[in-house]
Amino acid sequence: MEYKNKNFYVEQISINKLVKKYKTPLYCYSYKKLKENINFIKSKFKKLSPIICFSVKSNSNLSILKELKKFKLGADVVSQGELMKALKAGINPNKIVFSGVGKTFSELAFAINNKILLINVESKNEVLEIEKIAKSQKKVVDIGIRLNPNTDAKTLKQISTGKKENKFGVDEKSFIDLVNYSKNSKYLKLKCLSVHIGSQIVDYKSYKKMLIVLSKLIKKLNFKFEYVDLGGGMGIQYQLDSKKLNYEMYSKAILKFKKKYGCKIIFEPGRSIIGNAGIIISKVIYLKENKSKCFVILDAAMNDLMRPALYGAKHRIIPSNKNNKKSKKIYEFVGPICESTDKFLTSNNFQILKQNDFIIICDAGAYGYSLSSNYNSRPKPAEIMIKGRKINLIQKRQKLADLI
Ligand SMILES: *Cc1c(COP(=O)(O)O)cnc(C)c1O
Repeated sequence: MEYKNKNFYVEQISINKLVKKYKTPLYCYSYKKLKENINFIKSKFKKLSPIICFSVKSNSNLSILKELKKFKLGADVVSQGELMKALKAGINPNKIVFSGVGKTFSELAFAINNKILLINVESKNEVLEIEKIAKSQKKVVDIGIRLNPNTDAKTLKQISTGKKENKFGVDEKSFIDLVNYSKNSKYLKLKCLSVHIGSQIVDYKSYKKMLIVLSKLIKKLNFKFEYVDLGGGMGIQYQLDSKKLNYEMYSKAILKFKKKYGCKIIFEPGRSIIGNAGIIISKVIYLKENKSKCFVILDAAMNDLMRPALYGAKHRIIPSNKNNKKSKKIYEFVGPICESTDKFLTSNNFQILKQNDFIIICDAGAYGYSLSSNYNSRPKPAEIMIKGRKINLIQKRQKLADLI
């Protein structure tokens, strides 16, 4: 994805062509970038021979899941809907893990009937519920237990999940109790220790601290886990100068851990696979100036991309066609929704924009469309995937009639 002669291209296709054909706001993914990301992660963790389970909540587009399946990825799901999508995409059930604090009876029964790799349990109540279903069906169900390691992921507090004040996983004492309970159950087979401490992590030291906690616990338990599921959370560069995760150091620490405990490693990456492979193309509807700034009112809004409104995330915004004329005004990029948090970015050296220009919101592939809604009764945008010169419509734009 780059400028060619001042015009932005996704692979071989210019934004100018896309907006004519597909209108805006529009989600657009690059197949090449997606492939690069998958190969990058696979190569960085090669020595670990891990099972890589794509976190479906980061992007649950069926066509994208089908592409991931071709790269032999598994799936990390957090609801029956996501599990159904993963299966529909053809992902091997033996590579699917199910996380989440509130899996219902019917969701658990569905997962058990489909013989997925692991249900990662997050409470004693859930263990009892699974045991009940397993008993009634005379089955033995493979489970993991999710530990809350009380580790600071050093990320936005809203996307931190591994501290004791977070609802996720169980504390060490409960973990030990659950191990002992599961060991003695005829209907449960405990196979995995799982963790996921948060998202958009760029400091490998947070992961290293997590590994130390796991290590201590395994020693204390003297139990052999077939799998250790380290979750996802690998961060991406939302800003050009932001810190990169040191995969070499993370991988090295895991390799040592793996050799010591003889376990298979599972990862659950989402953002690092699809985040920077997707953009949103949006049109400037109006410009409105006041004394201190100029509001650039876009046709994309928080219902299309909620991350800025939900957790103050900042996505880079760039013009679709460069004119090299800097604006003296501060630009505030906002959507049309009736909420003051419907605001993407403030920029003080953007190029001069005018009505009907197009801009690009970068790195919107993860937690973008999957978090979108119909708020303000706005139809959801379309999604397209570019492969070289080919454009595939992978999600039709919702029609106003669909809302009625
Ligand atoms: C959200 C989530 C992930 C994926 O996180 P990323 O930051 O997108 O890699 C992995 N595992 C679990 C349990 C999650 O909830």
